[in-house]
Amino acid sequence: MAGYLSESDFVMVEEGFSTQDLLEELTLGASQATTGQVAAFFVADLGAVVRKHFCFLKYLPRVRPFYAVKCNSSPGVLKVLAELGLGFSCANKAEMEVVQHIGVPASKIIYANPCKQIAQIKYAAKQGIRLLSFDNEMELAKVVRSHPSAKMVLCIATDDSHSLSRLSLKFGVPLKSCRHLLENAKKSHMEVVGVSFHVGSGCPDPQAYAQSIADARLVFEMGTELGHRMHVLDLGGGFPGTEGAKVRFEEIASVINSALDLYFPEGCGVDILAELGRYYVTSAFTVAVSITAKKEVLLDQAGREEENGSTKTIMYHLDEGVYGIFNSVLFDNICPTPILQKKPCTEQPLYSSSLWGPVVDGCDCVAEGLWLPQLHVGDWLVFDNMGAYTMGTGSPPRETQACRITYAMSRVTWEALQGQLMPAERDEDTEDVCKPLSCGWEITDTLCMGPVFTPASIM
Ligand code: PLP
Repeated sequence: MAGYLSESDFVMVEEGFSTQDLLEELTLGASQATTGQVAAFFVADLGAVVRKHFCFLKYLPRVRPFYAVKCNSSPGVLKVLAELGLGFSCANKAEMEVVQHIGVPASKIIYANPCKQIAQIKYAAKQGIRLLSFDNEMELAKVVRSHPSAKMVLCIATDDSHSLSRLSLKFGVPLKSCRHLLENAKKSHMEVVGVSFHVGSGCPDPQAYAQSIADARLVFEMGTELGHRMHVLDLGGGFPGTEGAKVRFEEIASVINSALDLYFPEGCGVDILAELGRYYVTSAFTVAVSITAKKEVLLDQAGREEENGSTKTIMYHLDEGVYGIFNSVLFDNICPTPILQKKPCTEQPLYSSSLWGPVVDGCDCVAEGLWLPQLHVGDWLVFDNMGAYTMGTGSPPRETQACRITYAMSRVTWEALQGQLMPAERDEDTEDVCKPLSCGWEITDTLCMGPVFTPASIM
């Protein structure tokens, strides 16, 4: 064990005890009637994060995972991922600080933001964080002045037009401008060591990765021709975080592996990384949110027709909304559906219902068009798959993190983690009983001084 995570960081649960069981215990103890408590709280299954990592190593064995801190910078997540040997992708000083605070060395941090504040570039330089991304001339000039020993990764644009959340609208240089930037870097004596991209989150087409890998190969050739030591390929994020995603992780992995074999075959001397956010944490987090107020509105008053025999609609007000933990409603087009703690019996009538956040603003609507049994002020609604981008991004756990997080892990997973061995997955195609968990690598050895890409060795 590297010592990032200890038993005091989580509740140890026995096999068979689920997140749902833990939530039930916690919601019973936090009844509004007895404590007046209304603050939402999370339960995080750290074992789910460990399993995701195991799956990643199995399906993308050539790729070294970094965790995109912006996605969820809660201490339990950072500690378990550090324990598993991941590196960290940070977008700003606050994120660098939060991972350094748990003891992650500079050698395992990349500063992956193509548009950075000068003060924060200087911070990275002082801390010895050397791998930085860029996508324009101004940025290059800033890094030349403030961090001359940096190793730069050129962020290229992707066709993310079909992705739910697009990144290339803001970041990434088109292929046709890459040579110019690489030439400028050479003239400024700034080392460019590789290429990064991001296909966007909720990308429906795995071929987007293949196309970007092919583009990256062209940029590698340009860079090598100009005398840069190109040896880092960063596949970015965009990998799905839930089982129900349109495209499965395994399918994406298979497309990536084929593209890597074609454009960056084994032995070509290129270190392949990815910066995963939602993949690791989405399904690990469940949140309980309490109903703070309730209003019944007759449908004819609301200017609506009777629906499914119901004459009224019920508006439930919650203590969290789209400006807080439900921001995925705005950014990812998600309609959160609560899991009811008490299953309604078949005779119980269901009512047209909507959920609203606490901000006095008509846009703070969490969900509409739900059919729910009669609920009451003080009842807890439970939502799963709440680990990604729910707790404020771009900063350490926010001040407003009134949302308590209870971390849990099963004893079996904890013991496996201590031995750096993972028990076999439940799926049938896993032959191995145990697999090593740790990625066991350091950026200094491989990324910054790694072997050099030689185009002749490829294809
Ligand atoms: N890398 C960069 C540069 C990003 O901006 C993001 C998300 O915005 C990620 C990685 C993580 O993306 P995802 O959560 O889709 O894996």
